[in-house]
Order: sequence, then structure tokens, then C-alpha cells
Amino acid sequence: MNEEDTKQALRYFHDVSLMLYYPKVINVFFIDSKPILEILSQLLALTYVTKIDAIALITDEPLPLKITNNLKEGFFNEDIFECLKSKSVVFSLPEFQLCDLIRLLLHLNIITKLEDEPKGHYFIPYALPSYNDLVSIKEANAKPLLIVWREEKNKEILPVPTGLFPLTIVHLLNLKEYVTEIPPSTPEYYKFRDAMSLKVVFKGKEDTLHLINCYTHIEVYFTGPTQHCPLVRKLLTKAIDNSSDAMHLKHNYVNAFACPSKRSSCYCIVRPREDGNIVNCTICPVSATISSDHWYWFESGPVENDNGTQMKHNNNQSPDESLLLVKKPGTDDLMKLFIDSAAHYMIIGIGLSVNVTDLTPLPHLTILNLIQVFQRWSDSNNDVTWAKILKVCQDFPNQLGKAEAKINKFLLSPEARDKY
Ligand SMILES: [Zn+2]
Repeated sequence: MNEEDTKQALRYFHDVSLMLYYPKVINVFFIDSKPILEILSQLLALTYVTKIDAIALITDEPLPLKITNNLKEGFFNEDIFECLKSKSVVFSLPEFQLCDLIRLLLHLNIITKLEDEPKGHYFIPYALPSYNDLVSIKEANAKPLLIVWREEKNKEILPVPTGLFPLTIVHLLNLKEYVTEIPPSTPEYYKFRDAMSLKVVFKGKEDTLHLINCYTHIEVYFTGPTQHCPLVRKLLTKAIDNSSDAMHLKHNYVNAFACPSKRSSCYCIVRPREDGNIVNCTICPVSATISSDHWYWFESGPVENDNGTQMKHNNNQSPDESLLLVKKPGTDDLMKLFIDSAAHYMIIGIGLSVNVTDLTPLPHLTILNLIQVFQRWSDSNNDVTWAKILKVCQDFPNQLGKAEAKINKFLLSPEARDKY
């Protein structure tokens, strides 16, 4: 047997799980995978096991509380393995030592290396506690995107594959160009095995991506400007594809939205077609209309075809909407559309180039101030169009993204078509 034959045979034995062989990492093979799995499970047990006598079974001596607490947040340093009882077995041969284990775990994306994190050189999401509370994310302008796993043939909805979520988090963290850091452990952010927030940077602006594993889907929220949502979706798709490949899984997941009919197990699946995207509900006989604040995740918004199924069209606005954009908005419509964003009357006024310095900043005057702003804009005769107010919303997506979505929806409505 020559060298190449031997390697091929080893790869075969690895593929059929008779041994472990990672030639890209280390030139040894493991006939028995137990010691490696054991030292990993002992590491994770440090965060799950609370009984002192049980801890004594896995460590040589009690670990300082700080080290255990950091591990509960997913952070650790390489020397933590030195404290585990199974080290004597796994590191019994000079060919496989601590640095090799770390390289192997990095290669398998079980851990990721961190820069400038005082709590540890490495991050392991598997060590985090699980999330058992309700999800409440208000600051995202785009409605959440859902990633749903589905049997290809009979279309049955499947659970999110076990282990895929933390693996995807590590893959995302390895996209260091965009995903910069793990947020602090404060209530605004999720840091759990099945719910995680990550800091994402596009064009120098840092925003937050929240990912929640909801058993039959992963829910995705992005707090940054809505124009970056398609890029976020692409990054996430790449990370899920990489994780699926590593786990030898099919890529049988689809993008979806929560069905507005609010049936418990109903998803509005977005299906790409050559002429646009179609929305199909998994249960409802007629798929519901998906509002425009969902479509930020795709390059443009939906149109309706003859049978009421929503499709994504390739231009930003339908012809009707473009015609309306040059019309002068009525103050009554503006008030309806901006009433929930009234607190931002200063921003709106500045965007519309009207004087706001004399408006009294008292909470009970907010609505009156907003009326003033729109009245002054209307009187100014300075580009008083739907296009202008939409532009202001786009310039301040964090504050006015919701209002923008409402305007887009309104301009597509028969009411708007009749009136303008
Ligand atoms: Zn439905």
C-alpha cells in the first residue's frame, strides 16, 4: 500500500465513523474517539453540573468561580483543559497535546478564537445556558425573517437540526469582516445556546443581529438600516450552508415569514421563481398578504398576481406607486401614518427642512408638534411630495423605518390610488 492508498483508506474509515482522521489539522488518527468526546463533555459539564461531588469527578481540583462563570458565558482559556480529569488519557501521547486539541476544535468550528476578549481567548456557544423566556425585540424595523426546515418530498415541517444553531453561530463569528463581536451580557442581548445576539458591522455602522432557535424555525431580527437586510440574509445563508455541510445535512431549509393568520404551525414560505418570489402558506388555502415591512430581507417588495399569491417584483415601486410619489401628501394621511412615530417630530422636521427650534419639547405636546411640523412643511411649498417624506424616513431608518413601511403599504392601497 503506498502513501496515497493509506490516506484514502483512512478517509474511508473516517467517513464511516470507524475512526477520526483530520489530515488538515494533524497527521494522527484516532481509532477511539471516546477520549476526545470525553474531554469535551467534561468541559461542558463544568457549566451544567452544579453538585460539588459531581464536579469533583471531572476536575482535579475545584476551579476558581471566575473561570466557571466565564465559561457559563461561553468564554474560556486553553488551560481550562489542564484541570479536567480526562486530560491524562487524551494527552497521553506526545503526538496529540493541548495545542492540537485546540486546533482540532477550531477546525471543527466547535469553538472560535476571540481577539481582545478579557474573559477568554476562545468562545464555545455549546456551554451557554438555554433560553426559556419570551422573545421581545422591538428595535428592528424589518419584521423577522424565519428559516424553516422542510422535508423536500412531502413538505413536512422539520425541527431545526440538533446542534446546527451553535455551529452556525461559530460560522458567523468566523466571518470576521462583518461579525465583529459577542455583545455584553446585558438584558438587551441574548447569549444562550438557542438564542444569540451578534454585533454586525456594515459600512462602519455597528448593529445587532438577534437569532432565536424556536424549535421548528430560526427567527432572525436585524436592528440596522433595512437596506442591509438582504446582505444579512446572505451571510446567514452562507453560515447555515457551511454548518449543514459540516454536519452532512441536506440544505432543505427555506426562507419564510410568520403567517399573519396566526395559526400555530403555519408559515408563509418564500419560494424563488424566475419572475420573482412567491409566498405560499403551509396551511391556509389562500396565502395571506405579507406587509412591506417583511420584504426588506429581499431585494424588493411584493406584487399580487391574479390568483392572489404574492410575488416579489423586480422594480422598487409599481407604476402606480411611482406616479403617486410626486403628489402632495394630505396632512390627515401623514398624521395617520406617523402617529406612532410622533415622538420623532424633531427628526421629521429637520429632515423636511422646517423650523423646529420653537416647538416645546413636552411629552403631551408631541402630537401637536407633529401637526405643526407637517403644517409648516405644507406651507413651505418646498418639495412637498410623498417621495420627499419617504426619503426622510430612509435617512433615519432606526427612528422612521416603521413609518416608511406604512407609507409604502398605503401608497399601494386602493384608498391612496383613489385619493391621489
Ligand atoms: Zn397561514
